[in-house]
Amino acid sequence: MITTNIDKAGDVLNQGKLVVIPTETVYGLAGNAFDENAINAIFSLKNRPKSNPLIVHIKSLEYLEKVASHIPEKAKLLAAKFWPGPLTLVLSKKPEISDLITAGKDTVAVRMPNHDLTLSLLNKLDFPLVAPSANPFGSISPTCAAHVMHYFENELEVVLDGGDCTIGIESTIVGFEEEEVVVYRLGTLPLEEIEAIVGSVTLKNSTSVNPQAPGMQERHYAPNKQSYLTENVDQFLMLNSLDNVGVISFQSEILSPRISQQIVLSSKGDLKEASRNLYKAMHQFDLSSVDCIVFETFPKVGLGLTINDKLKRATTQKQ
Ligand code: AMP
Ligand code: MG
Repeated sequence: MITTNIDKAGDVLNQGKLVVIPTETVYGLAGNAFDENAINAIFSLKNRPKSNPLIVHIKSLEYLEKVASHIPEKAKLLAAKFWPGPLTLVLSKKPEISDLITAGKDTVAVRMPNHDLTLSLLNKLDFPLVAPSANPFGSISPTCAAHVMHYFENELEVVLDGGDCTIGIESTIVGFEEEEVVVYRLGTLPLEEIEAIVGSVTLKNSTSVNPQAPGMQERHYAPNKQSYLTENVDQFLMLNSLDNVGVISFQSEILSPRISQQIVLSSKGDLKEASRNLYKAMHQFDLSSVDCIVFETFPKVGLGLTINDKLKRATTQKQ
């Protein structure tokens, strides 16, 4: 059932069952972080390997102490600046945090989401919520309730409808090595904004550097249709003789008879607007009659770097 009733969502969670929650990044498949049955249910519904840890969602900055055993100074600075918001901190875990959540690691990923409905729900509960994105493992993340229903219509009692995600791209995930900031997953919050608070950071977001790290499979966030990424769409279509193509471009419309459908993500060239529309465009083409999807590379600055990283993963061919 799609609803905005947080009392109903709270009842379902208190019974140990799962609820889909809206956040500013993407929709999450949530359960009681202190209930191992609920955590197991998340992994099985998503078909997510147990080696892939989950994010704990908390209601306040103060609550962080109940989840993490050590909070580096730079983590405090970042949480104070960016929470509630699209920044996930990976910190040493308290013993109460289940190994199922952390995939056996001694660190836990935690964030405070910036969405009124979900914060109100968290305030009603006496436990934090553990939640990965509400999509089958490897698929495109949902940015509205309809996407979630498409994936899990018959499996869920409650999908909380918080409208379209205002950001629409996953959180940036940072950890700490010797108290210094390491970025494990590029996300909505640009590195420049993090560096403005804590000084320069190290980027370790590839499987070769850190195979255990966040959402870093080479193929991820992927449409089912054959997908490609190119700097020059027109030339790419000609060289590869593709037809009945769906094109997702950043700012400008591309004219070519080979293109059947086209989505321009932000005609005014706004990276935030483009990222908000990206997953919706992928979902739309996956359900449409186009034979394949061609993405245009984004400008290589700020959020554009994050989106290019995701597009690279989305267009990596299936093994
Ligand atoms: P999702 O909510 O689907 O975007 O996924 C949550 C992400 O957080 C996953 O990509 C996890 O790999 C990552 N994550 C969760 N816990 C940890 C941790 N302890 N260390 C590193 N990454 C983590
Ligand atoms: Mg995900």
